[in-house]
Amino acid sequence: MELTLELKRLQGDFERQVEALSGQVAAECYQCGNCTAGCPTAYEMEIKPNRVIRYLQLGHGSRLLKVNAPWICASCETCYTRCPKGVSVAAVMDALRQIARMRGVKPPNRDLLTFERRFLGTVRMHSRLFEAQLAATYNLTSGHFFNSMTKLPGLLFKGKLKLFPQRGTKKGREAVKGIYERVLGMESNKTERGV
Ligand code: SF4
Ligand code: SF4
Repeated sequence: MELTLELKRLQGDFERQVEALSGQVAAECYQCGNCTAGCPTAYEMEIKPNRVIRYLQLGHGSRLLKVNAPWICASCETCYTRCPKGVSVAAVMDALRQIARMRGVKPPNRDLLTFERRFLGTVRMHSRLFEAQLAATYNLTSGHFFNSMTKLPGLLFKGKLKLFPQRGTKKGREAVKGIYERVLGMESNKTERGV
């Protein structure tokens, strides 16, 4: 008996929302695994990048809101670069985080949310990342006070960690400020529309 699986029929509203937000078509993926093989953070993800797409193909996308994987994704786009079908798992992960935020769903590991907030906070303040502030505020607010502290002397000695922020130009700061304002506006519009 021949079994024909029509992926589109398996997908529901959630999967369609992810596709609309990300601009990606899950059915394009043929599960070669290249994205997972190149992903620098896949080892920490309980559902690997190619499996994330598989969940969407099979209509189990809403389960992805209950795992840490979308929040672990670093948006480096290695997956997209390596994908022979041009599928951006990065964009899908981004869409999943957007939906989670719109629905008020938090990742199982709350430290991921703390890290994201502190990361965006430093970028907003200085218009670029200030690692020392990120590490200090993350350690304080997550309660992991001595997290990675043993690495601090080496990083300072090698000049990898600056003690003072390197602020961007006035033009750059204005541009970053504008991005934050646009994103906040888009998020509130989507929430109002229930997207
Ligand atoms: S690299 Fe592309 S085609 Fe291959 S599993 Fe990942 S998303 Fe699918
Ligand atoms: S964008 Fe995310 S999923 Fe893709 S390779 Fe980078 S960390 Fe992995």
